[in-house]
Amino acid sequence: MSTSLEQAGPYPPGRWRDVARASGLLGPTGTVTQTVFAEMTQLATATGAINLGQGFPDVDGPAWVQELAVDAIRAGHNQYAPGDGVPPLRRAVADHQRRRYGLDLDPDTQVLVTTGATEAIAATLLALAGPGDEVVTLEPFYDSYAASIAMAGATHVTVPLVATPAGFRLDREALRRAVGPRTRIVLLNSPHNPTGTVLDADELAAIAAAAREHDAIVVTDEVYEHLVFDDARHVPVATLPGMAQRTLAISSAGKTFSFTGWKVGWLTGPAELVTAVRTVKQFLTYSSGPAFQHAVAGALADDDAPRALATSLAARRDLLCAGLVAAGFDVTVPRGTYFVVADGAPLGFADGWDLCRRLPDLAGVVGVPVSAFCGTDADGDPSATARALASRVRFTFVKREEVLRDAVGRLAALRR
Ligand code: PMP
Ligand code: GLN
Repeated sequence: MSTSLEQAGPYPPGRWRDVARASGLLGPTGTVTQTVFAEMTQLATATGAINLGQGFPDVDGPAWVQELAVDAIRAGHNQYAPGDGVPPLRRAVADHQRRRYGLDLDPDTQVLVTTGATEAIAATLLALAGPGDEVVTLEPFYDSYAASIAMAGATHVTVPLVATPAGFRLDREALRRAVGPRTRIVLLNSPHNPTGTVLDADELAAIAAAAREHDAIVVTDEVYEHLVFDDARHVPVATLPGMAQRTLAISSAGKTFSFTGWKVGWLTGPAELVTAVRTVKQFLTYSSGPAFQHAVAGALADDDAPRALATSLAARRDLLCAGLVAAGFDVTVPRGTYFVVADGAPLGFADGWDLCRRLPDLAGVVGVPVSAFCGTDADGDPSATARALASRVRFTFVKREEVLRDAVGRLAALRR
């Protein structure tokens, strides 16, 4: 049953209502809730369960990068950073894109430093989309997308990732239906949170072709660009033929270097699009964290730290996946990110929300229902994708090995 925000108690009118509606933050009794990550982290704290819900590492990034931040504070980088970011970081981002992907960028006009990827996403949507425009995303989608699309007053259209024996894959037919003359932006995420899918060359080519055909801008959320496993390869859309001129790429130091709290992100692309986003961004935060920006500039020059993290994460993924399978879940092995999706249906759990709320009691572990990353239909009821993925739960493996071993041991209780 759907709940209308108009029934939502004594709250004031305003755009926040669209944000709450779009991101499913309305409780069943007219209460307004926090994000699913906040809810599940609170549940873990309250019950003492192991928190495999919210995706943040339990080991901070390299000590030498921390020292760079301390040095930068001591060197006096404590007042406002320039609105587009400190020059060493803009140069480091441009160097990184050239070195890793062969993309040539002018650090002065084609790179914008932001307060995490989250601000880059919000500023981009506010800058480039508005009422009457459609923004296409994959579904499930990261929660801030729906919220930012609602802030912009644009319409959210989704293309499902469908569970197949080869993992969660793009529904090509749905892509063809979704992208059209009203599409202003295709907002992609690969490697993908929550499914761990790394879009393959054919999927990326299909998306690029649809964007070119309908003259849409492609915005790519690449925060997990370095966290890919096995033989999976992350290919930035901007490297595909004819795409550099219509693509904005977003990334962040949070995931790459295990400093999620520093909130240093960046956006790259054609100067005209970056200028449009900068115009909005400077009135959101203006700028933030100059010392952290300097530290990330140093970190980005080093390709070894992300590589080491990806290698250790792949081993931790294997540990958690094996434990989930042993506990009776059906597991879709992720090719990237911090996350694995497990299906509770074989254990008799049809509803991931219900399972997640009971999991601290049942097994002393916390996860996040995948349907929290899905939208609603026109009546406010769960979307077809939410229904298709209702029994799935996302767990993170960006935790120390001993924590994962403990979690796996606890999850075994589900089978008994
Ligand atoms: N995009 C995706 C897909 C994410 O998973 C996250 C954070 N987990 C973000 C964006 C936000 O990044 P940041 O913390 O740099 O704002
Ligand atoms: N991105 C993190 C996740 O997916 C959470 C970030 C947040 O709490 N907003 O778990």
